Amino acid sequence: MGLKSASDKLDFIEKKKLVFQLYEEYERLVRPYKSQAVCEKGCASCCIDVGSVGATTLEGLIILELIQGWDRQALKEMNRVLRENRNDKLNQVFARCAFLDQEQSCRIYAVRPFSCRRLYSLRKCDGQGAVVHRQAVALGQKIEKELQNLDPDGCSGHLSFILHLLEEELFRRAHLKGSWKVVDFREIIERYELVVHRGGPIGGKHREPTFGPGEPE
Ligand code: SF4
Repeated sequence: MGLKSASDKLDFIEKKKLVFQLYEEYERLVRPYKSQAVCEKGCASCCIDVGSVGATTLEGLIILELIQGWDRQALKEMNRVLRENRNDKLNQVFARCAFLDQEQSCRIYAVRPFSCRRLYSLRKCDGQGAVVHRQAVALGQKIEKELQNLDPDGCSGHLSFILHLLEEELFRRAHLKGSWKVVDFREIIERYELVVHRGGPIGGKHREPTFGPGEPE
């Protein structure tokens, strides 16, 4: 993954643990709302008609750690699909997520970013986007902020863009130490409209939901 020093690795392991604690906290708090969701395996509507899949650089590193264990052919194919996804997104096309397989399953389900975890819907999306509880949205925003705080020297944005930034070895090695300069990566940050956490809200998001009822019944 390019995290060369022992302290980098330790930092990453610690932060990764905290990221998953936040995911678990969110699942616990949102359970009364999500229990009313109509979502089912194989639907994947929110992964097919996607404007943007938001992720932080720390989440990107966790995903990279998984996919770098894939065999060479799978990695080559993944890189091709990610490249296509970046082109679609740059051309403002609503594209299928690069990680959705032909059986409509997520290839990185165990490490999918928070922007995917917070999605559910109270009615079938049918191309019109999700309907969610306001409280679940507020909880999601709080966790999103905390994820950003865990990655204070990172960036956020659409997942395939974040993974492309993380291909820059110089960035990857300096990121957890906070020793990179925006000026050195200005071209890629501007092209992908990434949000630098040293000021600004989290980047790319799925399509905005419609709000459903306030309290779970
Ligand atoms: S990362 Fe997985 S869950 Fe998220 S949009 Fe892509 S396929 Fe869907």
